[in-house]
This record gives sequence, C-alpha cells and structure tokens, in this order.
Amino acid sequence: TQELMIKSEKLSVAGQLAAGIAHEIRNPITSIKGFLQLMENDIPEKKDYFEVVSSEINRIESILNELLALAKPKASDMEKVNLIELVNQVVTLLNTDAIMKDIEIKPVFMCKRCMVVCDENRIKQVFINFIKNAMEAMPSGGKVMIEVEQSDLVTVIKFIDEGEGIPDEIAGRIGEPFFTTKSDGTGLGIMVSKQIIENHSGKVKISSDQSGTCVEVEIPISYCR
Ligand code: ADP
Ligand code: MG
Repeated sequence: TQELMIKSEKLSVAGQLAAGIAHEIRNPITSIKGFLQLMENDIPEKKDYFEVVSSEINRIESILNELLALAKPKASDMEKVNLIELVNQVVTLLNTDAIMKDIEIKPVFMCKRCMVVCDENRIKQVFINFIKNAMEAMPSGGKVMIEVEQSDLVTVIKFIDEGEGIPDEIAGRIGEPFFTTKSDGTGLGIMVSKQIIENHSGKVKISSDQSGTCVEVEIPISYCR
C-alpha cells in the first residue's frame, strides 16, 4: 500500500540495517526465552530443550559474526551438511509453537542421505523463515509439509502450507524489502532468505493459490557426494 512504500523510502540505510538485525536476532531470542521457561520444570524433555537453546545461542553468535563480516568481508562458511538432521532440528525448534497453534509440521525425505554443501546456520535461518511464514498463513491451524528431494543435479526443498495463499494483487511485491501484510511483520524474511539461497547459487520459487502456498528452494549439487 501507499503508506508502506512511503515508510520504506524514508528509512535510512542505517535504519534498514537495524531492522534487519532486529528481525534476525529477535527470532532466536524469543525461542530461547520460551524454552528456558519450559526448562524451569523438571521434565524429561529438558535435554532436548537445552540443545535447542544452545543451538539458538550459536545462531545469534553466527548472525553477529555475519554482521561483523560486513565490515571485514570473508568467504562464507561452507560445509557438508545432512539436511535430514538440519530439518529435524528446525522442526524440534518450532514444534512447541506449532502444536499450540494446531499446526502439524511434517517433513518428508525422499533421499536417504540428503547431503548438501552449504552454510549451515544461514540455511537454518532460511528454513525457519519459510516455516514461520507458512505457520503465520494458517491462523486456525493446518499442516506444513517440508519435502526434501535430491537428483544428480539439484537438491529441492519445498515448504507447502494450507493457508489462504498470496492474493494476485500483492504477488509481485513479495520479497521487496519491508513489504509485509502482517501488523508485526518486518517484510525482511523473504528478501534475506532469497539472498542467502542466491549466495548458494540457488533459486527460490513461490507459487500460490487459495488452497495454499508452496515455497521451493533449489540448490545445485556442487562437489558433495
Ligand atoms: P513478514 O513475514 O515479516 O511479513 P516476509 O518477507 O517473510 O515478511 O513475507 C512477506 C509477505 O509475504 C508476508 O507479509 C505475507 O503477506 C506473504 N507471505 C509470505 N509467505 C507466505 C505464505 N506461506 N502464505 C501466504 N503469504 C505469505
Ligand atoms: Mg516472514
């Protein structure tokens, strides 16, 4: 809308950076707070939650390192990662919230060992952004499918939700910095995620109709396997 465009035009470069930082760091802090609260009680899941908290703290650390890297650029942190483990970790992280919202997050792996050469923390950040968008598109619950498949050429990860989809009128603006339809959104998630996937020589495709949205991430196989 008109108001949104004016708002983003008026933001300075420093303001844009500040909003980006806030967005990427607020997510892990919110989950750390939530999981710490759960860990107050002596429950059997304590060890799992501890691992989630610990990995979220690591993520904040990496994000801060990334920002410092803006001042002093260096090659990103590429390593061989098992997507099955990574996806399962992200699902554990988001599941408590999902269950409260009557949402089922269902990963489907069509490869036995889904190895990808990538920057693990950034890819994790991308998956969290897309799953959160899927969850936010289903205020009264539903299912988010995460399909992972691999050919000789590419790894494809699809995030499929049962929300109401993206109206045609706004489809062209999705991924523009600060474009959001949410009262508490920042409109940075898709832009940042797209940038990260493009840094992996990959692509993000979004398709949508009234019965849901599919966000498809495609990463070419490089020297792995
Ligand atoms: P934010 O989530 O902060 O709004 P994003 O960049 O993640 O920012 O998303 C931008 C906009 O794209 C959202 O406000 C929403 O309108 C739309 N969108 C993204 N993902 C979905 C989805 N899975 N279903 C419907 N709309 C979506
Ligand atoms: Mg988002």
